[in-house]
Amino acid sequence: MVVTADSLERYASRGHLFVVADGMGAHAAGELASRIAAEQIPLYYLRQSSGDPATALREAVQQANRDIHQRGQQNPEFYNMGTTASVLAVLAEGAVIAHVGDSRVYRLRDQRLEQLTFDHSLVWEMQASGQVKADSELSKAIPKNVITRSLGPSPNVLVDVEGPFSLKKGDRFLLCSDGLTGQVEDSELGPLLTSLPPDLAARMLVDLANLRGGADNITVVVVDVLVDSEPVGKRRMAKPVNEALPWPLLASVAICLLAASLLGVSGNIGPMIVALVLGTIAGGAAAVQYHRRVTEPARNVTHGGGAAVRRSGPYRTYPARPNVELLSRLDQVISALKTAAQERQWMIDWKHVDALVASDQQFRGQGRLAEATCVQAQAIVETMKQLRNQQRSGGENARE
Ligand code: CA
Repeated sequence: MVVTADSLERYASRGHLFVVADGMGAHAAGELASRIAAEQIPLYYLRQSSGDPATALREAVQQANRDIHQRGQQNPEFYNMGTTASVLAVLAEGAVIAHVGDSRVYRLRDQRLEQLTFDHSLVWEMQASGQVKADSELSKAIPKNVITRSLGPSPNVLVDVEGPFSLKKGDRFLLCSDGLTGQVEDSELGPLLTSLPPDLAARMLVDLANLRGGADNITVVVVDVLVDSEPVGKRRMAKPVNEALPWPLLASVAICLLAASLLGVSGNIGPMIVALVLGTIAGGAAAVQYHRRVTEPARNVTHGGGAAVRRSGPYRTYPARPNVELLSRLDQVISALKTAAQERQWMIDWKHVDALVASDQQFRGQGRLAEATCVQAQAIVETMKQLRNQQRSGGENARE
């Protein structure tokens, strides 16, 4: 779900919003849960037109969770339905993310791919707690699809809020469901995102995951950043006033003033002056503390629920340079497609595809690996398009 701001005012207060929600449970139930999340999170978020976007985002996800939970309780068919939710708000001051589950948000910058979200999956939680090592046999044996947190099963949910992350012209965000990341490795995602324009990138990632047998729904959103965010520190997010007020210091000010007026009435001028001076000092300290709290960067916003250990993204980073290894993997994809087409007598017009493959070889000869990756992706996407046209009746299981 993509909700771009329709005015400058809206952009200034709430930014552009991108949501990926991947349902789980019985087919219809999972679909309903993810639909409620995708529709309600933007509504709840935009309904709060003022105040800190990070807080609004967290509350919107929590509210959607309550809605899904309630619907799940009302109807046995939907009992215990659930969904992931990864929400990206692109604001003038940076990107803020609210996240539950194992869908992911990545940022590509300067040929590095960063995963900004923490997977709420058994394998990530066990690795984070130190119970298993990332590359151990035990870690590989843990089923990848067991998730530890989702919207729906319980009336309350702990929401990770990440950011704000700075924005640089040329940055690219990827939001996706595990239907993609289960089939396409991080080492492939980076070079593909570096090399391809946004629409081709989204199409190619879905096609590649489908080709590798992803039976799962695949959701992919690619967001390109066209302007830098405002410098860090220039624009900070406001805290609610009563959270920011230094209550103990204000109480001291009140006590000193009360004491001073009582002492003044009873004629104790010396002690009255002392009380007044103390009150003034406490007042000054209160003002300084209030200012500091109000202008504190929103990065210090803590997790809801209070029990979770504060972690903050990016959690993993990968090189994202175009490389020969990926190119040869894509070669194999194309030749597998050709073999399958021959065996199953698909009617594919190879002329266009072969021309693309030929220019791929040329680019590779010149060391232009990004261009080579791009035409290879075009060759694969073109073949898949022709295949889909032929197999319309077979059903299309990719959605973007
Ligand atoms: Ca999934």
